[in-house]
Amino acid sequence: MENWLTKRANLTPDRMAIRFGETTLTFADMRNRVLQIAGQIAKHVDDNARIALITPNNLTGYLMILAIQQLDKTVVLLNRRLSPREMAFQLADAAITTVLQDDAFVGELANVHQLNFSAILATEAEPITPVATFELDKVTSIMYTSGTTGNPKGVMQTFGNHFYSAVGSALNLGLTPNDVWLAAVPIFHISGLSIMMRSLIYGMGVVLYERFDVERINQELLTGQATTISVVPVMLKQLLAQLPVGAVYHERFRTMLLGGGPTDLTTLEKATAAGIEIVQSYGMTETASQVIALDASSATRKLGSAGKPLFPVEVRVQKVNDADKVGRIQIKSPTLAVGYLNRPDKYAEAFVDGWFDTGDMGWLDDEGFLYVEGREGDMISSGGENVFPDEIESVYGEADAIAQMSVVGIPDDRWGAVPVAFVMFKDEQTMDFEALRNFGRDRLAHYKVPVRFFETETFPRTASGKIQRHKLRDQLTTAHEIK
Ligand code: ATP
Ligand code: MG
Repeated sequence: MENWLTKRANLTPDRMAIRFGETTLTFADMRNRVLQIAGQIAKHVDDNARIALITPNNLTGYLMILAIQQLDKTVVLLNRRLSPREMAFQLADAAITTVLQDDAFVGELANVHQLNFSAILATEAEPITPVATFELDKVTSIMYTSGTTGNPKGVMQTFGNHFYSAVGSALNLGLTPNDVWLAAVPIFHISGLSIMMRSLIYGMGVVLYERFDVERINQELLTGQATTISVVPVMLKQLLAQLPVGAVYHERFRTMLLGGGPTDLTTLEKATAAGIEIVQSYGMTETASQVIALDASSATRKLGSAGKPLFPVEVRVQKVNDADKVGRIQIKSPTLAVGYLNRPDKYAEAFVDGWFDTGDMGWLDDEGFLYVEGREGDMISSGGENVFPDEIESVYGEADAIAQMSVVGIPDDRWGAVPVAFVMFKDEQTMDFEALRNFGRDRLAHYKVPVRFFETETFPRTASGKIQRHKLRDQLTTAHEIK
């Protein structure tokens, strides 16, 4: 395919491409800026350089990603919140020679050449010829999975992955020339990068936010400055909590694409009551963003479902026993990344008869809607029943006193395994063991109610904020038990 940026700037030069703070660029402006930056980067790196980028969601970082593409190089996107140890692992794993970094990043990195954005932008640009074509099988981006279940894996995404992802999303959500997508999710994750790729492919404007500024983002949606926004569950909760009573989003606002993790039903119901059209979705770094999504018309009827596979995607649920309702979620999709960097073994292991095994468990209803129950490794097999932490946590999320709960399984002589919970209270401990247990017993089958509760003030989280249950389990012996 012709270079997407060239093509886009030729097709719709005057359309808005991006707004960040006070700055707005058309696609023609954006191409000029990107080619300039590509020429500046070329001054600093040679053909063999392996480039990684560390940036928050700002305009320069956004343009840098596009500039690296124009140089026909693969960009490795790093999360700036990684610990030094994690950062060192990813830099070595990806054999990075050069790190382009936002000026605000202060870490000293070993064995790589670190270049600040300001230094790059102050360079006199070298004339460059932008790459003529974006070959669909070329790996254009590498990003690491969140590391929720263990060491992060470097996922190799091709232009073809991004293209089919954008097409699948448009066929589900529809597309109008006035669409503007608000990106407050990180551009170094697939949630944000996929918005950038859609922008080029659709000719769609992006409003970029560096921080999740709840009040300003609500204003954007109330005034119809953006028509679509991607959110993770915690963002949705914050938007709802601060939405003025009776306020409704502007009629130009079309969809809120929700993904990244499970959402409790209470929050979904609140959103529906506020007239917000939520499109639930399911996907992962390996599938180049959403592969399953609810369509708007089913949003209310199928509340709690992640939806149906997008047009290019196939899904199946592989059960261990025929009698089981829940099985392993497996995917076939042209958006499926072509490998894990340096881990061909891990990548090969993920396939079962040509299907990619997501490691997640779920079930399909008789209309083909997928319900995601949780990760296989988090499943608790208790007395022949399968219990998923997500459901228990979602129910306890309704308790006023509880800020956050996370459930893990522990071995049990009688039942095989039983759930126990780590609880963080909003104030000081306000529920004792009895109260906690009764709260669960009123709302859940008894075998799902945690048998022990531990109080905690923090949760081990990945750099993207996901709770790492495997690390939580290690704290069982030292944690304070609620009696
Ligand atoms: P790692 O693979 O390193 O352990 P990770 O799986 O958290 O990390 P991501 O690719 O960021 O890394 O996240 C994808 C995962 O997020 C999915 O496999 C799934 O477990 C979870 N997820 C995504 N969307 C949903 C959803 N709608 N409902 C429930 N879980 C979801
Ligand atoms: Mg994963």
